Amino acid sequence: MNTSYSSLNSFQTCPLRYKFSAIDKIKPGKKSPEAVFGSIIHSTMQFIHTGSFILPTQKEALNHFSQKWNPDVFTNEFQERAAFAQGIKIVQSYYKNNDPHDIKIVDIESRFSVDLKHNGEIHLISGIIDRIDKVEDGYEIIDYKTARKLPAQSHVDDNLQLLIYLLAFLKRYPQLAKTPEKIKLSLYFLKHDTKLSTTKTLSQLKDETEKILNLLDEIKDSSFEPQTSPLCDWCDYQEICPMWKHKFKEEISVTDAEKNTIIQKYLDLQTEAKEIRIEIGQLQKSLLGIMEGEEVDRLFSGDKIVSKIHRQTFKYNERKLKEILERKKLWDQVNKVNLVQLNKVLKVLPSQDRRAVEKLKKLKSESYGLSVKQGSK
Ligand code: SF4
Repeated sequence: MNTSYSSLNSFQTCPLRYKFSAIDKIKPGKKSPEAVFGSIIHSTMQFIHTGSFILPTQKEALNHFSQKWNPDVFTNEFQERAAFAQGIKIVQSYYKNNDPHDIKIVDIESRFSVDLKHNGEIHLISGIIDRIDKVEDGYEIIDYKTARKLPAQSHVDDNLQLLIYLLAFLKRYPQLAKTPEKIKLSLYFLKHDTKLSTTKTLSQLKDETEKILNLLDEIKDSSFEPQTSPLCDWCDYQEICPMWKHKFKEEISVTDAEKNTIIQKYLDLQTEAKEIRIEIGQLQKSLLGIMEGEEVDRLFSGDKIVSKIHRQTFKYNERKLKEILERKKLWDQVNKVNLVQLNKVLKVLPSQDRRAVEKLKKLKSESYGLSVKQGSK
């Protein structure tokens, strides 16, 4: 398989999006404002660190940013002005906290490809590393991010992108292959002017490379189902995605007004049902209070009788219970698969075992529910 880090990332967020871009090679339509903003910032960061002796000043970097600016991609003036101001702030904060002359750049926008052997196949993953620096005791690999939210450290520790970059770096510098911990892996969150870093030991590197191989297996076996999420708002394939088909349908069987009436009624009843459930809970509490005061378990009122039902749940020491029931060959009759737990366990199973478990799955029953999202972008 020939793929790139960004394709692997897109498979993890939505398999269908991966199919559209990596398999069907459908060229995305207009880039989202977020994507354009990210490209301009990346280009400015590259500009800041380019030059042999004299590097650009802050003023020159701000000029570069302004020249690259493209207001046409934004849907409204307010959004455009806010994004422009944010870009200026990023450049100013960067110069405030970094002196580009102090940074020993090894490479910028460094193209790479890594080959991974797996099940008799060679997989090629390619990409571009934003920046590689020489630091005191080794090297630092840096990827710039323009995300709004600063993630937790675990996001960096478990980051697939940095792992692939490390593999690519070690391919270029094989003499460091035995000491990967000397390579600092960093995500630089420019909107927060914060760098989050991690390192990998040799054994971590080995274990985590397995994750990439599992992902490649998953892609091979995937049926590329769409997976809607807040990231759909940034997806360039909405117009051809089955999950968004109705939004772009030209001929429709019901009018917007008819749909709105039904949806609104549905939402109103859902709110009413929730309020009724709360009210029932409060009435139950009052009735139980009366029973407690009267020291009875049944209340009589005209032709009505209200009885207290005592519900308890228990848990057992599963190992000991199993020992007892297995001796009587009865364990199989009580041991049900807990699907919630199974789904959690499946996520950490090696892909081969996961596929074997998936094959055992049979559809038992099927029903449909509804979820309503209000105020989408
Ligand atoms: S719109 Fe959403 S569900 Fe459809 S392909 Fe894009 S990310 Fe996937």
